[in-house]
Amino acid sequence: MVVDHGVARNTLRPGDFPDERGRFGRFGGRYVPEGLMAALLDLERAYDAARADPAFVRELTGLLRSRVGRPTLLHRVPRFEAQLGTPAPTVYLKREDMAHTGSHKINNALGQGLLARRMGKRRIIAETGAGQHGVAVATVSAMLGLSCTIYMGAVDMERQRANVIRMRLLGAEVRAVETGNRRIKEAITESVRDWVSQVDTTHYLLGSAAGPAPYPRIVRDFQHPIGAEARSQILTAEGRLPDYVIACVGGGSNALGAFRPFMADPGVRLLGAEAAGRGMATGAHAASLSAGSPGEIDGTFSYLLQDDDGQIAGTHSVAAGLDYPGVGPELSHLEDSGRLTAVPVDDALALRGMETLAHSEGIIPALESAHAVGCLLDLAERGELAAGSVVLLCLSGRGDKDLEIAAQHLGLC
Ligand SMILES: *Cc1c(COP(=O)(O)O)cnc(C)c1O
Repeated sequence: MVVDHGVARNTLRPGDFPDERGRFGRFGGRYVPEGLMAALLDLERAYDAARADPAFVRELTGLLRSRVGRPTLLHRVPRFEAQLGTPAPTVYLKREDMAHTGSHKINNALGQGLLARRMGKRRIIAETGAGQHGVAVATVSAMLGLSCTIYMGAVDMERQRANVIRMRLLGAEVRAVETGNRRIKEAITESVRDWVSQVDTTHYLLGSAAGPAPYPRIVRDFQHPIGAEARSQILTAEGRLPDYVIACVGGGSNALGAFRPFMADPGVRLLGAEAAGRGMATGAHAASLSAGSPGEIDGTFSYLLQDDDGQIAGTHSVAAGLDYPGVGPELSHLEDSGRLTAVPVDDALALRGMETLAHSEGIIPALESAHAVGCLLDLAERGELAAGSVVLLCLSGRGDKDLEIAAQHLGLC
């Protein structure tokens, strides 16, 4: 059964965090050069006005429905459940992989695109690593008639050729960043430089619930429909709340979208699957909540992976979207306060999650989302799920972009 509610009522809902300085407990804030402070405060004012404006919320809600495909499906996966041993839990997937462009990223790109237009900014810039965020931003820019420039490290452009072609086909200019390691870190630096120089005409469209205030709050709110829809869908289908909500954690946007509407329900356990890469003991991972320490990263104060000298550490994950040395401030706070449990999931377990879901249900998840699937496989195999458990799993994206990597690791060609 397909249940269709939640969108209209719950598109934007005020949260109890952050405080007026953009802090979630001890995390968050604005660690930026003076030249950006005014732009961030402008953005904050514009966002607060927009979310209080019924016309803005109505337009966003309408486009989420007509152009993104919301509400996305929530459905049970009995053949996958049967892979989890006995007694098998009841498992529902929230199908963000079926949103237009194949992941949750478009929810936020659309919200910020409308916000930029409302602020009179006709030019969008963004940086992208694997290209998924860049594709979402280029799509929304085309949809709204905004000009779009995407910064991407030259190395990433070589590795993600298909997404570069997609962005260009969508009318975006993709600028290769040739400095340093020619990857996401340098692309962020170039984007910030661009923004400072053209801040009157340009909106910097950040892709995760990270960075300086007000971005963590804005991105979280634009991802709120994930959990708001899922909550009402699972109540309709199951007559009760889930025992677990599981989502993968890169910067934290799909996880916060999924978790937030369950935050005040003490019986619902929130599990964030982080990239354990080649294994936590190897150091080649991206598990900032499990193994990081607090510090400054990309304009915010949050958990990050750093060496003894405070240098940001190198990371590894088979999933490009999780391969980031930090995590957003709200998830850091939730983990600190004990509300959220971070679970490291290594490359091998994620790949097994991908294969198991594909074989049993005909759904190929993104490698990022496959970390959430792997997390559930592992819980079941350790016998940690009580009999009769109900699990809500956020399937953040589809796996088409990961076929080459899957082929290599799973011996498919
Ligand atoms: C980018 C991405 C992620 C990680 O980003 P979050 O902000 O942590 O959600 C997860 N899944 C998919 C499919 C992605 O494209």
